[in-house]
Amino acid sequence: AKQNGRSQYSFFFDDLKTATKRLVVLESELRKAIETKSFTMLYQPKVNIKTDRIIGLEALIRWESDKLGIVSPSEFIPFAEENGLIIPLSEAIIEKVCGEFIRLELGKRADMPISINVSSIHFQQHSFVSSLKAIFEKMNCQPSFFELELTEGTIMANAAETSMKLKELKQLGFRISVDDFGTGYSSLSYLSRFPLDYLKIDKSFITTILSAKENEYIVDAVVQLAHSLHLEVIAEGVEAVEQVELLQTLGCDIVQGYVFGKPMPAEDISHYIEIWNIKRQE
Ligand code: C2E
Ligand code: CA
Ligand code: CA
Ligand code: CA
Repeated sequence: AKQNGRSQYSFFFDDLKTATKRLVVLESELRKAIETKSFTMLYQPKVNIKTDRIIGLEALIRWESDKLGIVSPSEFIPFAEENGLIIPLSEAIIEKVCGEFIRLELGKRADMPISINVSSIHFQQHSFVSSLKAIFEKMNCQPSFFELELTEGTIMANAAETSMKLKELKQLGFRISVDDFGTGYSSLSYLSRFPLDYLKIDKSFITTILSAKENEYIVDAVVQLAHSLHLEVIAEGVEAVEQVELLQTLGCDIVQGYVFGKPMPAEDISHYIEIWNIKRQE
C-alpha cells in the first residue's frame, strides 16, 4: 500500500511537471504568434430571423502553434488574460480584423457590422477607448461598421467607468453587445442604464431549449424584457432548425450558430453573403 501511495504521489508530480511545461511553451509560443501575427480570424454570420437578412458577422480567433498544434481560444484567451499578453494580442486581433475589412471589403455596410470580442482586462485599461480609436484611425476604419461584444461580467465590473467608456464608444459609432447573457448575476433593468444595442443569450440556454422547459421560459422572459428596453436579442449556438422555429415563436430577433454557418475565413464569408442574398431573392 505504501509503495502504491508513493507511485501515485510521483504520478501527481509527473502530471504537474507536464502541465507546467505546457504553460511555459504556451506562453513563449503565444508571444511569438503575437509578434508575427500568425493567427487567423474566422467570421460567423448572424441572421435576423424576422427579415431573413445577414445583419452582422462575429470575428473569432483561431491559432495553430508549431509546437502545440491547434489551441482553443477557450484555453489561450483566459491564459493571456492572466499573464498580460491579452493587451498586445487584442490589439493585434483588432488590426487583423480592420485589415481584412479593408482588403476584402468585408461587410463595409453599416447594416452588417463586424463584431469583435473584447476581453475584460483590455476593456478595464484606462486607455482602452483612446487606444481603440488610435488603431481604427491608423487602419483607416470607421467604427460605425463595427460592434464590440462585452460579457455581462465585463460590463458589471465597474459600473461608473463602464458607463463613461460605453458612452464614448457609442459616440465614436461602435455598436455594443452584451455577450453570454444569463451567466452572470446582473438584472436586465440594471443593464438598461448602459447604452447597449444587442443582448446575446448564452449558448447554454439555447443548447437545451428544446428539452428543458424552464430554459424556454427564461428565453421567453428575456426576449420580452429586452424588447421593452429596446434591445435586440441574439440567440447564440443555434444548431437545429427546430430551435430556430421555437426562437421565432418566442420573438427572438437574431440567430447565430451552425444552423446557418460555422465561423469561416474572410475569403469564404464574402462568398457566403453573396449566395445568401441570391437565395433570399429567389
Ligand atoms: P463566445 O464569444 O461566446 O463565442 C461563441 C463560441 O461559440 C465560439 O467558440 C463559436 O465558434 C462557438 N459557436 C458558434 N456557433 C456554434 C454552434 O452552433 N454550436 C456550438 N456548440 N458552438 C458554436 P470559439 O470560437 O471556440 O470561442 C470561444 C470563446 O473564446 C469565445 O466565446 C470568446 O469568449 C473567446 N474568443 C474567441 N475569439 C476571440 C477574440 O478574437 N478575442 C477575444 N477577446 N476572445 C475571443
Ligand atoms: Ca462573442
Ligand atoms: Ca457568447
Ligand atoms: Ca462564451
